[in-house]
Amino acid sequence: MWLPNHAISLEPSHAADAYRWEPFSYTTGVTSYDVIVAGAGPSGSTAARLLARDGARVLMLDKATFPRDKPCGGGITFRADDANDLDLSPVTEREIYGGRFSSDLKRPFTRTNDMRLARMTQRWRLDAYLAEQAAAAGAEFRDGLGVREISFDGRKTRVATNGDVYEAPILIGADGVNGMTSRSLGLQPAGEHAVALEANYPITDALAEEWGHLIGLDLGGTPGGYCWVFPKGDHLNIGVGGWTNIGPELRPRLDAYTRFVGLDPAKLEGHRGYRLPLRREGEPVVRGNTMLVGDAAALVDPLSGEGIWAAFVSGRLAAEEAAKYLSGGIGNLTGYQRSLERVMHDEIIASRRLMGMLQRLPPIAVMVMKHYDPLWRALIQIIRGDLTYPELMRRLGPLRHVTNRWADWEIARHESTLRAQPRIDIDGGD
Ligand SMILES: Cc1cc2nc3c(=O)[nH]c(=O)nc-3n(C[C@H](O)[C@H](O)[C@H](O)COP(=O)(O)OP(=O)(O)OC[C@H]3O[C@@H](n4cnc5c(N)ncnc54)[C@H](O)[C@@H]3O)c2cc1C
Repeated sequence: MWLPNHAISLEPSHAADAYRWEPFSYTTGVTSYDVIVAGAGPSGSTAARLLARDGARVLMLDKATFPRDKPCGGGITFRADDANDLDLSPVTEREIYGGRFSSDLKRPFTRTNDMRLARMTQRWRLDAYLAEQAAAAGAEFRDGLGVREISFDGRKTRVATNGDVYEAPILIGADGVNGMTSRSLGLQPAGEHAVALEANYPITDALAEEWGHLIGLDLGGTPGGYCWVFPKGDHLNIGVGGWTNIGPELRPRLDAYTRFVGLDPAKLEGHRGYRLPLRREGEPVVRGNTMLVGDAAALVDPLSGEGIWAAFVSGRLAAEEAAKYLSGGIGNLTGYQRSLERVMHDEIIASRRLMGMLQRLPPIAVMVMKHYDPLWRALIQIIRGDLTYPELMRRLGPLRHVTNRWADWEIARHESTLRAQPRIDIDGGD
């Protein structure tokens, strides 16, 4: 009887159908690499580039043909920019210095700042650039080639695509919220998702003048989220996102916010709905020799919906772990779980609590942001990566124990409401 040659905790009862655990019966026609990366979004391209730069033989697969777009505001905060060692100026269409804020479509005001807060890009542009950089570092990039089936013989993972078959001692699952890697490995996050709907509005000279360096954010009217305007080179991206149970309200909210910022919803085009995965702390992101990164690991920030920062960070951490494994320094990849928890655990908890608090007192939170400079400065520091959410909470002093408890209660209340409602899924893109 065949047995794996080192301990891999893949109990058959947890494994989904697409993941087969068996000795490989054939070896011809299979190309070998050190690492296979499934998915070429920001998380996959980052992992592939860093590993290839270190000399690993990397294959990066994406089922879409590049350049491909993805529903996304395309906002890259400067904390995300800092978490990435590439210069993103070539794909930056606008730089943001402030925002036009409002509270449930009322009381609009503008606040700006001397320092840049975010870059605005379009995902077809950003992701093509990141994949190109991975290829330039030596990774082999095959687009239009989706991973169909994953199997593992205790030593190598074999990946069957809609074309050839590949194998490697390490697989990095970077295939996004609807990807098959986490599903195949029985690692699908149990946490809830947020949903979002976005569309594009053609830009005029007057709109470019008005929105060129500002984003729009309406807080408080959308449970678990907000409405936004993100300016791009040739359009405004207007969207709304929040907890899954608001799915049916997304379209009317999007139209209402568009009218609120003085635009005609009839001119919105290319509407796209999509899910944002939210992780519960402690959920596994490693199984055997596979690590999950980015949206595949459900690393979206619960408060802001930002996912590109976590995609860059997790891509780098997975690459570091893979490099150590390939050099024989470690015997398994479980250190990736620990390093990810170190960076993300407290961050995600604090972000979720802040979201819980914001839900209860949105008009007050918006007014405080308008009139109370320390909060505005703290927000800028967070967006620029100079302050973390847990550090912000610590500034509350002993009061934070009360606010934490209150936020946890808010979240529990929301979750029990959700459990009582029928599940609404928005799947798009992939
Ligand atoms: C409406 C909306 C707005 C958002 N706005 C922002 C924002 O402004 N700023 C921000 O930071 N975040 C934002 N996010 C979140 C952000 O888009 C994601 O967190 C981010 O794209 C995650 O990157 P990733 O590389 O993990 O996955 P993705 O970017 O989703 O990439 C996954 C890749 O895997 C490929 N793939 C899927 N299945 C397979 C397969 N079987 N085989 C091979 N390849 C496969 C897909 O084609 C895709 O290219 C937004 C999300 C939504 C839905």
